[in-house]
Amino acid sequence: MTYGDQEKIVHHDVPKPCPECGSTHVRWAHSRGAVEKFLCVLGLRIRCCRSCGERYTRLGGAAVRLKDVKKVGRGVLLVIFVLAVPLMVIAVISWLMDHSSTEGDDGVG
Ligand SMILES: [Zn+2]
Repeated sequence: MTYGDQEKIVHHDVPKPCPECGSTHVRWAHSRGAVEKFLCVLGLRIRCCRSCGERYTRLGGAAVRLKDVKKVGRGVLLVIFVLAVPLMVIAVISWLMDHSSTEGDDGVG
């Protein structure tokens, strides 16, 4: 058994089992990629399960899987994109209408 291993990781924190396989054999992991770095900036620590390799963090006492975070992140980006594109099209159309009327006045003479 490598129980001493677990105590080293969590001397001020209660060991929470892996959300994937339930193992408490977890270790801190270095942030990898933009999403994990962003979570680190927010003050969240990345954990990695030694049994199944699942990467997750804890948010308000609940385990949050990084693959779920990435899925949600992609969904948010999609929503922003879907909302932003029509707004940009409207902005461009109104800008073009504004400019075409004044430039037309100027050019034709
Ligand atoms: Zn696991």
